[in-house]
Amino acid sequence: MAEEQLLNVARTDEERAELLRWMYATLRPEYGEKPLVARRAPMHELISTILSQRTTHQDEEAAYQELLTLGSWDEIIDAPTGAVAHAIRRSNYPESKAPRIQATLKAVREQRGGYDLDFLAGLPVKDAVKWLTDLPGVGIKTASLVLLFNYARPVFPVDTHVHRINTRVGTIPRMGEQAAHRALLKLLPPDPPFLYELHVNLLRHGQRVCIWGRPKCPACVLRERCDAHVIYGNNVPSFGEKPPKPEGKVPKAGDLFSAGGEG
Ligand code: SF4
Repeated sequence: MAEEQLLNVARTDEERAELLRWMYATLRPEYGEKPLVARRAPMHELISTILSQRTTHQDEEAAYQELLTLGSWDEIIDAPTGAVAHAIRRSNYPESKAPRIQATLKAVREQRGGYDLDFLAGLPVKDAVKWLTDLPGVGIKTASLVLLFNYARPVFPVDTHVHRINTRVGTIPRMGEQAAHRALLKLLPPDPPFLYELHVNLLRHGQRVCIWGRPKCPACVLRERCDAHVIYGNNVPSFGEKPPKPEGKVPKAGDLFSAGGEG
């Protein structure tokens, strides 16, 4: 049985929403307030997010910078796909990402006559998400990052860190990252600064404490309300690891909330 299945503790939507607000408030003193400011231009965000899949931030940035040495977006579309793959070789899977990037750029140009995405700021959120996810190579995570980071639209990007922590803590039952976008968004306030800070602070927490391998639970500020910690104590298994079956019955949400904060 996968770890996530053991952590599927029954909760109402109100309990999940309250738990998310508690996580936001608990992570803030740990990682600080995060004002919502765009970190890079919209097209940079769009293409870099494609490059970032299964790639470190450092390699993603190096691949992006070398991609730009091929010239303008028009010139990148016209470049041999092998040359694009070579330019982005610091990113993982360059052979599959290169044609996707070229197809994405081409679709943006065909539909908009250029590469200005600012029209997304004026579309209803649903339509903006649809326009972006209809582009080849663009999924819900990429669309959400562009819309939240660049246009302060009320969407919530779910990356591997956000997904892992929410699964372990128990704000969502077992589900994939894509489905988690919908599940979490309906529990969260439509408040872009809140969504941005929660996303960024979960990312930090996932990189430093609630890591993919054995998480550092004794150092975790979320442990008092984390299903995984209540069930496994300080021996929460790695996210992909087949865990030992916990002894006794898996507790209900109310039991978990009163379980105390021992480390
Ligand atoms: S208590 Fe452990 S498993 Fe739970 S969120 Fe913290 S680090 Fe992750």
